[in-house]
Amino acid sequence: MGYIELDVLDGAPRRIVIGIDLGTTNSLAALWEDDRPVILRQEGSSGIIPSVINFPAEGAPLVGKQARAQAVVDPQHTLFSVKRLLGRGLADLRGELKDLPYAISENANGVLEIEVRGQTYTPPELSALILRATCDEACAAFENAEIASAVITVPAYFDDAQRQATRDAARLAGIEVLRIVNEPTAASLAYGLDQKGEGTVAIYDLGGGTFDVSILSIEGGVFRVLATNGDTQLGGDDFDRVIVELIREDLAGELSAEDLADPAFLQAARLAAEKCKIALSSDPRHEVHLSLPDIGLNWRHRVTREEFEKRISPLVDRTMDCCRRALADAGIEPSELDEVVLVGGSTRVPLVRARTEEFFGRPPHTELNPDEVVALGAAAQAQVLMGGTRDILLMDVTPLSLGLETVGGAVSKLIERNSTVPCSVTEGFTTYVDGQSGIDFNIVQGEREMAADCRSLGRFKLTGLPPMPAGMARVAVCFHIDANGLLTVTAKEETSGVRTEIEVSPSHGLSEGDMEAMLQAGFDNASEDFDRRRVADLKAEIGTMLLAVKKNQTAADEKLDPESHKELADAAARASKACDGDDLDEIRSARDEFEQASLPLAAVLMDHVVKGAIQGKSLDEV
Ligand code: ADP
Ligand code: MG
Repeated sequence: MGYIELDVLDGAPRRIVIGIDLGTTNSLAALWEDDRPVILRQEGSSGIIPSVINFPAEGAPLVGKQARAQAVVDPQHTLFSVKRLLGRGLADLRGELKDLPYAISENANGVLEIEVRGQTYTPPELSALILRATCDEACAAFENAEIASAVITVPAYFDDAQRQATRDAARLAGIEVLRIVNEPTAASLAYGLDQKGEGTVAIYDLGGGTFDVSILSIEGGVFRVLATNGDTQLGGDDFDRVIVELIREDLAGELSAEDLADPAFLQAARLAAEKCKIALSSDPRHEVHLSLPDIGLNWRHRVTREEFEKRISPLVDRTMDCCRRALADAGIEPSELDEVVLVGGSTRVPLVRARTEEFFGRPPHTELNPDEVVALGAAAQAQVLMGGTRDILLMDVTPLSLGLETVGGAVSKLIERNSTVPCSVTEGFTTYVDGQSGIDFNIVQGEREMAADCRSLGRFKLTGLPPMPAGMARVAVCFHIDANGLLTVTAKEETSGVRTEIEVSPSHGLSEGDMEAMLQAGFDNASEDFDRRRVADLKAEIGTMLLAVKKNQTAADEKLDPESHKELADAAARASKACDGDDLDEIRSARDEFEQASLPLAAVLMDHVVKGAIQGKSLDEV
């Protein structure tokens, strides 16, 4: 059997490792099985979960198809496209807010809050509901299964805050994230493009509400994003709107202006329009049927593919402009591409296929279902990470440079864009004023020269420096990006040993406190189910920590003082023992104690890293 199975005990649920495409419009999950990825779905279902949430007057929120069905009758309590809000602030949404029908505000941490029925929800909480529904659908494909961990995909252009928010969503959903992977990378994997040696590929992704195109280079299993371009306000919904317009034009003589603007009419027209669009992908013509007895409407109208294509042609042209810009940014000609991949449900439209083929000068890959290809690739990635058969080293690169604001507002880049992750870079900084007792750091992401033009990921302060003449402090700042593309920053003054451990909480991210509170709120009204997932999650966390301690046993034996050494050993034993049981509180406090007891070891290891990085540099250099 090709399942990835972990700790399968008799009668215990099968623990599976899946790939999840958390989409703006639709989400779905896949699993590696019998040497290939397959979509997880219940009998008779497509497996696709519309990324829609409805909050009914009473009871639990509805997610997916059921929620989407409420759009007509209950639009005020139905949320679409929450992915657009992940890791963003109000200022980021300036241009988009007018199109969002819900009440949005920003809390003190700059995290958005969406108000529905007098309750507020953050984007990660909402995405967690979608992730949970997707996992439930995936588990329902089996008799007895639960998710051990998952690879989750994000657009290549997602910045640190957006990736972190995706991670937060998973944590709130009780899912352990194995890796966050770029969607175009996943699509390339689904087609096995990594196995063809070196190459340059274009991934054209036209979904429900967004378009993006990525140019990737693949070399020795390393995926590099050479360029991305796109339009976050262009997708299949616009194709639907084109047909809605056509319907309204035709009905203009028959219905009053009031009826034509009626929400119920518009919703019905929108649903009929999508149905028509989908039909026209396979048929040359389709009869739209609208029946609204309330306003005495029973209307039929034939739409031809030709007519539809004429109307969407300008929209498709816009995607081609983006492709042209992406290629120019990457500095390559269409003829230099080795492969072109179509992703997203809207690439089923024949005109889109024809235009892309014409533009790129070669037939694009369309063998896999375009709305499934990202999830399939995520499952392939999960298989690789679980030590599966595919013999490649798979890595992503950072999409944007990371650095610190220096005196005068310029940016000092520590990690250049397109660096392969995971990676660490340490750079030396110093004080500018005699007796300066602290240094402020502003962590920025972006390619521009001035910090004001980049995105600030967060600020931190190194305090408690002993009085020293200007320029004498030797502060080593280390940027570490893990395999998920997430950043941790540490700073230490070398001569005095003063250090700050900084959690880079993105400007629009949840704080650890928020997170705990949300998780706690989850427990409070939780079903046993949730507790079970949390227990599994914590056990996995403890497992990782035990491994890390084991790996660094020599350092611990040699460098730790006897007291810390004993504390660590005891805490590890307690944590390990707690994992034999299923008591949530016990496991959680064991985890917390273990974490606390491992801090001295972490400090020893970090010291080692910083010293190594600083060694051999003169004072002027650091
Ligand atoms: P996202 O990545 O934005 O979550 P998807 O890749 O699932 O979205 O694409 C959803 C879009 O694809 C919707 O606008 C849907 O109407 C459209 N779509 C799905 N099937 C077809 C089809 N057969 N023909 C045309 N459009 C389709
Ligand atoms: Mg998508």
